[in-house]
Amino acid sequence: MRAGMTHAGLGTIRQVRLADVAARTIVREVGAASDGRETGGILLGDISTDGVADVRHAGDPGPAAVRTPASFLRDRAHAQQLADTAFEADGSIWIGEWHTHPTTEPVPSKTDIETYCSLLADPELQFTVILSIIIGPLPSPHVPDIVMIAWACTSSTITAIPVGPTDHVDGQGLLPT
Ligand SMILES: [Zn+2]
Repeated sequence: MRAGMTHAGLGTIRQVRLADVAARTIVREVGAASDGRETGGILLGDISTDGVADVRHAGDPGPAAVRTPASFLRDRAHAQQLADTAFEADGSIWIGEWHTHPTTEPVPSKTDIETYCSLLADPELQFTVILSIIIGPLPSPHVPDIVMIAWACTSSTITAIPVGPTDHVDGQGLLPT
């Protein structure tokens, strides 16, 4: 049994808390992907019974990720390795993903929605909700004031949700800095 199954009863996310280390990974990867192609990774943490998604770690795309100007396909083996490491470290589970939209609004695309629907429909994964963080068009690749919107995706709804800082201290990421 996978750890994620303990959250199978939850239906929604009403708030996101992004740990500093996860935010730093995202900012770093966005900066490293200033070539006009999408980038992204998985989000690891947990979702509380009151609907707070605690993002403790954000993954990088991984060496086998397929990045194009309008799509991003994660490196699944790399994602699994990060998920295993995070679970060992602090019990974090796979709660969603983040990716960039270099030229369009940070709103889930048709392709994104299809991806989330297929993840939600996969009985092995047991997702009832997927957290999606999308980073919108950047004023400049090296300016870190990124436009970020978090979305709670279920099989029937997609809702924008507020992102705030985490309320616990977490200085250790999974990735080499
Ligand atoms: Zn997208």
